[in-house]
Amino acid sequence: MRIIVQNAKCQGHARCAAHAPHIFKLDDAGYILPGNIQVVEGEELTASRGVRSCPERALEIDGEPSSTG
Ligand code: SF4
Repeated sequence: MRIIVQNAKCQGHARCAAHAPHIFKLDDAGYILPGNIQVVEGEELTASRGVRSCPERALEIDGEPSSTG
């Protein structure tokens, strides 16, 4: 699973990192670092929660399966 990061949309709410700081890395100002994120197996649920928590839609799951809860 891969997360596409559109860091131009990021407003620094840090909600993604609140869910999974080890997946969503922020800079010193609290903005997501640029570059897509490769999510390791077993972290998909945590990662998708972080994605959905972003109010700016700056995070997008690449190839999101149709069966999400
Ligand atoms: S939740 Fe969204 S807006 Fe907030 S830091 Fe993460 S990517 Fe940026």
